[in-house]
Amino acid sequence: GFCMDKRNSTIESKLSANGKTLLEKRYLLRDKEGRIAEKPGELFRRVAKAIARVDSRYGYSAEITEDNFYQIMADLEFLPNSPTLMNAGTDLGQLSACFVLPVEDSLKSIFKSLQDMSLIHQSGGGTGFSFSNLRPKGDPVRSTEGVASGPLSFMTIFDKATDVIKQGGRRRGANMGVLRVDHPDIIEFIEAKENEDMLHNFNLSVGVTDEFMEAVSQKGDYALVNPRTGKVKERLKARDVFDRILNCAWQTGDPGLLFLDEINRRHPMSAIGTIESTNPCGEVPLLPYESCNLGSINLARMVKEGAIDWEKLKETTRTGVHFLDNVIDANKYPLPEIGQRTKQNRKIGLGVMGFAAMLARLGIPYDCREGIETAEKVMKFIREESVKKSVELGEQRGSFPDFHRSALAKDYPAMRNATVNTVAPTGSLSIIANTTSGIEPMFALTYSRNVMGTRLTEIDPVFEEIARKHGFYSSQLMEEIASTGSLQNSPNIPEKTRRIFATALEIEPQCHVRMQAAFQKHVDNAVAKTVNLPHEATVEDFREIYTLAYRLKCKGIAAYRYGSKAEQVLEIGETG
Ligand code: UDP
Repeated sequence: GFCMDKRNSTIESKLSANGKTLLEKRYLLRDKEGRIAEKPGELFRRVAKAIARVDSRYGYSAEITEDNFYQIMADLEFLPNSPTLMNAGTDLGQLSACFVLPVEDSLKSIFKSLQDMSLIHQSGGGTGFSFSNLRPKGDPVRSTEGVASGPLSFMTIFDKATDVIKQGGRRRGANMGVLRVDHPDIIEFIEAKENEDMLHNFNLSVGVTDEFMEAVSQKGDYALVNPRTGKVKERLKARDVFDRILNCAWQTGDPGLLFLDEINRRHPMSAIGTIESTNPCGEVPLLPYESCNLGSINLARMVKEGAIDWEKLKETTRTGVHFLDNVIDANKYPLPEIGQRTKQNRKIGLGVMGFAAMLARLGIPYDCREGIETAEKVMKFIREESVKKSVELGEQRGSFPDFHRSALAKDYPAMRNATVNTVAPTGSLSIIANTTSGIEPMFALTYSRNVMGTRLTEIDPVFEEIARKHGFYSSQLMEEIASTGSLQNSPNIPEKTRRIFATALEIEPQCHVRMQAAFQKHVDNAVAKTVNLPHEATVEDFREIYTLAYRLKCKGIAAYRYGSKAEQVLEIGETG
């Protein structure tokens, strides 16, 4: 009716052209002939209905919940991860973005995980694997009297399979591959991406221990251990291995590090198992066969009259936790093991996007103490409200089954979810919500894009909004900065404004790490962050960043030097 149409048109007016195009290309349902069969408002309604319906299973009315869910999505204040937007209320019904699969030292296990991976990718999820349990290259294989080909050879099969599946054409297949630093094949793993044809569909992380990091700082050595026999194969100088990691990361962007001991120290389910891997972008450490569904609050929309709207942030957090907990029940899992393990711990990951846009609206530079303090204040608040809501849900609906075996049982009377918070990259969500991604600073203030032979300059929407509000917007200025995407060489712009709009490559590398650490303090899963470095960055810069991340108790670290990969998603200036 009229009311519905009116609602639809207000949603359309909130969406940016890019957001609308993205929804049309990949999210809106299609009919059998491949024609788009829903409007953005109908998408949010479909999702809200499918997720709210769960309430009635617990004896509550789903109606008000559905309207709350609908409203926060339609207002672009909260969005669940892409598979939920794409698949909720459809036959496929797979709603999670993040999975970890086991890889044990047998062909049977390896090829089972390969098959499981294919099903997960097909449904829009990403997968992480630890290959640390595979026997090293050259190790005997009893049944064939041959020798093993090692983790790397198997990883290339996972990589190829990912290419072939392409996640049903709607998403790129994404994988995390982890190898422990004490695996005998570690050097081959570290250097794998020096060959440009290798492992395009993998992010690589070396799983490092406190012992290793200690040996690096003490210039000591450490043992490589064959996981099959438990025997020491040889000893290496930790510093040499670390140097190789840094060199390769400098050259190619891989590998990053996962700080395994920190991850497991903070994992509330350590009585149940040891975490060896994360999902593809590093934000969710998981046990084998666990999945996690994510959602992100758009912080840019939590600002009212130049200040943070705490009441609104509280309500959005509470609704977000409720939403994500429902997703666990509404989900159709790609494998029975995954359904079972996921429901055992009921992990969810509520996080944020639009953090840099929020800071810009508050007039706070990203790279200063106030920026970091704001990060801590906001995330601490979200964490506290998330936990409260999860406790309430636990009291109403029951705690997750493993609650009494978890470290949470000593602090809380009940809890519905073993983990509640995550900071995701929000690569697609932030385009739909028309804001900055995750907790990243703006990448550039202007982009140029080649649209059917015409070069168009696009201006970052938050930058444009604030430039207009503060009266320094002019088409001449935009022309001026079109090739650099930066305000730093515009002398007529006040110093403070220039700092507020410092872009990723202009921000001190250290500051990126400190921001990640600030969020990690109040996040029980992990934080996706890329430390973006200018092309001129050195290997020593990488050393500083990787070491600092460890010192500040991050769970992992990844850094990327501009222009070090052949294919790059974001480009500055006139090359795009
Ligand atoms: N992911 C994936 N393929 C993609 C993008 C993302 O499998 O092309 C998975 C991956 O596990 C990643 C997670 O989704 O860590 C979250 O990524 P992001 O926040 O960028 O996804 P969005 O929800 O914005 O689509």
